[in-house]
Amino acid sequence: MPELPEVENVGRALSAGLTGRRLTALSVQWPGVFEPSAAAARKALVGRTLVGLHRHGKYLIARFESDDAAVPSSFLMIHLRMTGQFLSQDSLGDDYAPDRHVHVTFDFDGRLVHFRDVRKFGRLTLVEHATEPAALSHVGPDMMTVKTNDWLDRVRHRAAPFKSVLLDQGVAAGLGNIYADESLFLAGVHPLAKPRDLDEAVLREVLRRAKQVLRLAINHGGTTFLDFRNFHGQPGNFRRKLRVYGRGGEPCRDCGTVIERMVIGGRSSSWCPRCQPAPVARRKRRA
Ligand SMILES: [Zn+2]
Repeated sequence: MPELPEVENVGRALSAGLTGRRLTALSVQWPGVFEPSAAAARKALVGRTLVGLHRHGKYLIARFESDDAAVPSSFLMIHLRMTGQFLSQDSLGDDYAPDRHVHVTFDFDGRLVHFRDVRKFGRLTLVEHATEPAALSHVGPDMMTVKTNDWLDRVRHRAAPFKSVLLDQGVAAGLGNIYADESLFLAGVHPLAKPRDLDEAVLREVLRRAKQVLRLAINHGGTTFLDFRNFHGQPGNFRRKLRVYGRGGEPCRDCGTVIERMVIGGRSSSWCPRCQPAPVARRKRRA
């Protein structure tokens, strides 16, 4: 499932390839991908120019403008969910023929971009604002840009396992299973530890490490699992950098202890029992 780094890379590729280009046609194979409707999307977007892309957590919001300055901008919010991907026809070559999983083809004045989604959970939604649409009112601040004190206020009283708190998009948006596991490993925090039992210095370290691992993954083009592909049909290459995610039963790269794996809040979690001691060993110090 694409997380913040993968979505950031998709956004950068779309932005680099399409900014300043006019959407001249929209070919829709499966209208269900659009909210509220494909007809509304066609009316709002065709004939307009893509002028910018904004990312918030795992969402991208594209801004389209009309030549007529009196016409308000249109905004298309993109959520890839499990398997959504954008493919550039130019990068794939003339031999590429869209398969039955391609639901929409955007024609940016001759440059074709396909939205492909095997699981069909991805959505393209018309929204009213680029940075604060009502559709995102339930989503917390972006994990890369959240202010430390804001984030500390959002987590310090939480009694849920830290892993679940990191995955809660209402707390902060962007971390998914991969980078939540990696952040906790780098901070030396057990996934079942409760934020309210931890010292503030430890909480700060989790945030610092989360931002660090996200930045690193962005720079490596994201991690490839299942159907994540970037705009040019290439997989990301962060996978070999992973310390614990997907490595249950393998030795820790730091200490050699076998990485453990369990399900927390319905999500598979991996950690090193030595580098990330059990919560009882990390009881908060009383002043
Ligand atoms: Zn270890």
